[in-house]
Amino acid sequence: VITKAQHKYLSARAEELIKKAGVLLTADELKKMDTADFGLGNPEIEGAQIVPLIDTEKIAMRVIVLLPLQTEPEHWHAGSGDIPGKEETIRVLYGTFYLCAEGEDNRQYARIPEGKDEYYTARYEYVMSPGDTITIPCGTRHWFHAGEHGAVLYSVSTAARDAADPFTDPNVVRVTVLTE
Ligand code: ZN
Repeated sequence: VITKAQHKYLSARAEELIKKAGVLLTADELKKMDTADFGLGNPEIEGAQIVPLIDTEKIAMRVIVLLPLQTEPEHWHAGSGDIPGKEETIRVLYGTFYLCAEGEDNRQYARIPEGKDEYYTARYEYVMSPGDTITIPCGTRHWFHAGEHGAVLYSVSTAARDAADPFTDPNVVRVTVLTE
């Protein structure tokens, strides 16, 4: 649950980073920004600011902003029935960005929020800078962490059904709830 004041604060900080990244977004697009706390109630530690740009039956595109040292919780993109899970390509536009995916543990910089070790099982760390691109196959667990200046990235993918994505942490509620 996020208050309207928190939403305002988080989106203002995200907009600053979007400007620094030199990404052009319209006012209407910015209005759709999701300041996700993933139901965990501590968005500056575990959260992400997500601006949906394109959603068709086949593709999706988002701008994802992570505030300094913010972590987006571990999740994967599962398929359901005939629909394959989302294949997601991340392209970094601004900041130092740490992407952890399944693989041998080489993690150095990406911080796991205190006491949450069991919910961050993907420990192969990619250290990424602006211009770096990586594709995450569907079904692969992954999570994100930003360096001390925050990070801005494009997420380009096959069709997204964000609300249905499974997270490792059973406490996650993907749909952001706004209150007074
Ligand atoms: Zn993802």
